[in-house]
Amino acid sequence: MAARYRCGSCRTTSDWLHDTDVAAHRKQHRDRFHGGDAPDDEELIKGTAPMFHGGILGGRELLAILAAVLVLAFLWDLKN
Ligand SMILES: [Zn+2]
Repeated sequence: MAARYRCGSCRTTSDWLHDTDVAAHRKQHRDRFHGGDAPDDEELIKGTAPMFHGGILGGRELLAILAAVLVLAFLWDLKN
């Protein structure tokens, strides 16, 4: 699952982050811009990152998956 951190006070929204990274990003933002305090209007936008847009699944992962499929197809072809 992915999420974006949004700070309404600063009117900024992070990129899609992995669930485990959002808490660290939020703490970093609070420390850096709000002296460690929590702004009233921050929110976490949960959802699914766009797969091929620099999100969870980048170009390198896509290439790795394509290569794996090609190798499997080749092996399948050898067996038959
Ligand atoms: Zn902020």
